[in-house]
Amino acid sequence: MTGVDLHTHSTASDGRLPPARVVEHAAAGGVRLVALTDHDTTAGLEEARSEAARLGLAFVPGIELSAEWRGRSIHVLGLLIDPAAPALVRGVRNLAVERERRAVEIARRLDRAGVPGGDALERTRGWSDLPTRTHFARALCELGAVRSMAEAFDRYLARGRPAEVRSRWPAMAEALAWVVAAGGTAVLAHPLRYPLSGGQRRELAREFREAGGRAIEVACGGGSAAQVEQAASLALRTGLAGSVGSDFHDPDVPWNQPGRLAKLPASIRPVWNDTGFPAVPARAA
Ligand code: MN
Ligand code: MN
Ligand code: MN
Repeated sequence: MTGVDLHTHSTASDGRLPPARVVEHAAAGGVRLVALTDHDTTAGLEEARSEAARLGLAFVPGIELSAEWRGRSIHVLGLLIDPAAPALVRGVRNLAVERERRAVEIARRLDRAGVPGGDALERTRGWSDLPTRTHFARALCELGAVRSMAEAFDRYLARGRPAEVRSRWPAMAEALAWVVAAGGTAVLAHPLRYPLSGGQRRELAREFREAGGRAIEVACGGGSAAQVEQAASLALRTGLAGSVGSDFHDPDVPWNQPGRLAKLPASIRPVWNDTGFPAVPARAA
């Protein structure tokens, strides 16, 4: 338990709690330095920031950008970003257009596959401005078209299934450039979650660093000790700092609760020691 969590989601993207409740939930979990990193949006940052100030937590404004590397979808965390920076605002606007295009196409394909895609899309509108596959899965559950979120993915939404819609995300270097232009620190999210060989993973990390990336997530929500070690060795080999983040979405999912994270190994430089990050407040007496 480090008291640091630099990867969380709110209802501004596909999380279950509004931004202020995410911060409150993190505080209850012992977190003292928290970042809100919604997918492709900065809409929740102001609310989260003021709640953090109210509760005495140090706050890092963030975002989790969808990007592409060698035809694969990867996630770039931007920490300490200025949400008003023009390059980032433009990028985020383009991503919103792309997500909307994708959502309409997913709905159309679900309908064609015999499940209520249009109704599901309508339902997601009440939850978020940025519909994700997670939202579709939840909506299909609620509509009784599937029994579980997992079934929604397995039968319809996952790769190779009838409602799969390949996204056109920006190239990794482009997403990194937006983060840097917004004064932010770029972190490669959950590096072990991409289907890559060890060699490809090292190339990804190396290219990430060459394009201006600072760190990789070493301790992720639900990660085992062996995975922490593997990600740590990747950080060491490629000269990147380390970050920790639960990827919190939902208070009912036990394995990625805020703050429930392995410590960074002593050999890894914590990214939050970089200039510009707020100090971790002392534990409340
Ligand atoms: Mn998500
Ligand atoms: Mn992610
Ligand atoms: Mn995430």
